[in-house]
Amino acid sequence: MSQHIQYPESGEKITIKDGKLSVPDNPIIGCVEGDGIGPDITRACLRIWDAAVEHAYKGKRKIHWAELFMGEKAAAKYDGNYFPDETKEALKDLLISIKGPLTTPVGGGFRSLNVSLRQELDLYACVRPVRHYAGVPSPLKKPEDVDVVIFRENTEDVYAGLEYQSGSDENKKLAKFLREEMGADFFEDAGLGIKPISAYGSKRLVRKAIQYAIDNNRESVTLVHKGNIMKFTEGAFRTWGYEVAREEFGDQTITEEELYSTYGGKRPEGKVVIKDRIADIIFQLLQLRPADFDVLATMNLNGDYLSDAAAAEVGGIGIAPGANMADHVAVFEATHGTAPKYAGQDKVNPGSLLFSGVMLLEHIGWQEAADLITAAYQDVVTARIVTYDFARQLEGATEVKTSQFADAIIDQM
Ligand code: NAD
Repeated sequence: MSQHIQYPESGEKITIKDGKLSVPDNPIIGCVEGDGIGPDITRACLRIWDAAVEHAYKGKRKIHWAELFMGEKAAAKYDGNYFPDETKEALKDLLISIKGPLTTPVGGGFRSLNVSLRQELDLYACVRPVRHYAGVPSPLKKPEDVDVVIFRENTEDVYAGLEYQSGSDENKKLAKFLREEMGADFFEDAGLGIKPISAYGSKRLVRKAIQYAIDNNRESVTLVHKGNIMKFTEGAFRTWGYEVAREEFGDQTITEEELYSTYGGKRPEGKVVIKDRIADIIFQLLQLRPADFDVLATMNLNGDYLSDAAAAEVGGIGIAPGANMADHVAVFEATHGTAPKYAGQDKVNPGSLLFSGVMLLEHIGWQEAADLITAAYQDVVTARIVTYDFARQLEGATEVKTSQFADAIIDQM
């Protein structure tokens, strides 16, 4: 029985039919407003998303939002519980949700609420589209060339929590095993960490990236790895990635090698090119030749660095959207934190959450509403009507509050 969560009565749940999302015209979608600046940006974004749906479908379609509780608002309602079971259940049950940023409670017994969320729901893919929007300040000469979608593996790698502190009993036990049984050699006081990369984890991530590329007419999927050094983890990711492409998408993909040997460098219509690049090189290439890249699939640590570095080329994390996804359950989210010093001031940039909502609309197939928001956003920012963070970077800008920025976008639709 639900304690605090209520599904809107006039909405219907999104379901899965034949392995695909089946979205009614009145879907119930979960919404966690988040902590700090969360309520400010969520309030503004809900108005924009609803207005776009109304404009695009004239009342035929409407999102019915179900408020779900995580973070400080949950703790207040559920007796100190930051991530109540009924929220977990609702996130799974509704399949699609969106959330604002959450404060990581200090000394709460877990590392981060966002990490708990990913683990509990096994949201194994972190999806971060990075593209330029007209008018947004960027350090690149041709920021419009950046249009990539990064698929970062969310559950493995050095983030798996298999770390043993220097001097601890576990560390000594592992060090003894490594030295005596495995012939390994390292300094006496080394902290130790383990980097698990599995075929299962790698393949489901690359599978999702390739499927995305096919569904969205993307030209290529690049496997990003450091397999030249870490052969049996990052190198294996590369091998397994190519294996998925060959075995499961043989008709829809070709390798970069085949692109040149068989097709003379001209990509055949409808085929996704699978290629790979060493992780350090990709940081250079994304700045020098961003147009060469499309979908990128990589492991947890590389993906962490890469998604923020790529976002910085086109406006920074203030506007970078993202989602964490399992096979069907998806939680779209602002990628920045709670910026506590600006909480409640109606001041910050709602762009990150706004475009996470645009991703959500695209994900459920409501492309017309998504496009309306993108177009209106570009018009408003090109007119230099922006929140404080962009106003600092744009000469002659009109600085507006979060809510006024939302008004300007809605007026522009
Ligand atoms: P932060 O992203 O909250 O803020 C860093 C700075 O970035 C802010 O002071 C502000 O200057 C700027 N900023 C962030 N979002 C902005 C926006 N929308 N518009 C304009 N400027 C913006 O990072 P932090 O200070 O390291 O973390 C604060 C809290 O957020 C911590 O509790 C942390 O755990 C949490 N956090 C949550 C998430 C998440 O929920 N996904 C992500 C990162 C950090």
